[in-house]
Amino acid sequence: MRHVDLTSAELASSETARRINRDIILQIIRTRQPISRADLARLSGLQRSTVSQIIEQLLEEKWVREGALAHLPRGRRPTLVHLNDDLVVLAADIHPHQATVALVDLNGRLLSRSTLPIGKDPAKAVHGMTECMKRIRDAYPRKSVEGIGISLPGRVDPETQRLVFAPNLHWPDFDIKGAFEREMRLHTEMENAATACLLSELWFGRMDGIRDAVLITVSEGIGSGLMANGQIISGRNGMAGEFGHVTLDPSGPRCACKGTGCWEMFASCNAALRYYSELEPKSKRMTFHELLSLAEEGNTQAAAALAKQARFLGKGLRTVVAGLSPEVVLVAGDVTSAWGRFAPLIEAELKEVVLAGGPPRLLPTHEGDVARLRGAAALLLQRHSVQ
Ligand SMILES: [Zn+2]
Repeated sequence: MRHVDLTSAELASSETARRINRDIILQIIRTRQPISRADLARLSGLQRSTVSQIIEQLLEEKWVREGALAHLPRGRRPTLVHLNDDLVVLAADIHPHQATVALVDLNGRLLSRSTLPIGKDPAKAVHGMTECMKRIRDAYPRKSVEGIGISLPGRVDPETQRLVFAPNLHWPDFDIKGAFEREMRLHTEMENAATACLLSELWFGRMDGIRDAVLITVSEGIGSGLMANGQIISGRNGMAGEFGHVTLDPSGPRCACKGTGCWEMFASCNAALRYYSELEPKSKRMTFHELLSLAEEGNTQAAAALAKQARFLGKGLRTVVAGLSPEVVLVAGDVTSAWGRFAPLIEAELKEVVLAGGPPRLLPTHEGDVARLRGAAALLLQRHSVQ
């Protein structure tokens, strides 16, 4: 269990309850900071003494700091607490051909960020990323690094902490987590990019009161992170959410998973590039960013390729919505930077598929491509407090 579910708090052991209370307090501090202990007790419904105990522990672990005094009209002036900006996480977001490494603070701010190419040798790729991490860490000597969070284009087995399924990455079996921990001497957490982005929305975002949500990452492939009844779903071997590899059309193109006509073969960014090259066979190879710019410049073939991708995103969401009935569907990835183009087409498809009631709300993640890095950081923040 990673996400805080208040309904299970009553059943939890006292140790689990303590961790959940700590998480609740951290969340309130993050959204209301700077804040007094009295206000924390009022907003959380916890006893003043419990709040004070948790704050003492958080101060000791350097997660929070005491700062300004509150200005009350009369009486005592309580000391306010806020998150410690100097506590940071090193985040890595791995894609099939490149990785981005960043330093992220507890408020989700990216302090530094750099992208490097990676190949098919995982040992070399990890070495490149850790060299980059060391440079970033050296540039911020005053910051205290809590650990490393990694978002991956594949599934991680929660038991073994090994990558079990990553058809677009083409890496042989390799202990990624172990390699990072050996080179950096820091605790490392890794997770599928979509689940990481969903945790980021829970930690940094706008998920208050939402208990059923699906987050879809649209990039070289399609990933999904699932939350049902307030719990993150990982399934056996961490494999839940592989809607990207559900067949949409058996006569479609062959996929890296060895299936044919998978959803991601029709709705990923690579699919949009394929549509464009079918419409413009003489065009040179380009990136998805270049395709987006071309469409913005008024190129009708580029616009048509993106529209086809958008409609297929919506069609694939039928299975997701029928299976999980989420309140919201969040979308992460480069398509969010052209959201005005994508949203109406996806929404039109979603409206058609609703069996009863209204369609789920469709929302882009706040930060476009930054979502995955904040997701990688959230992985560590979330697990630190509820693991
Ligand atoms: Zn597939």
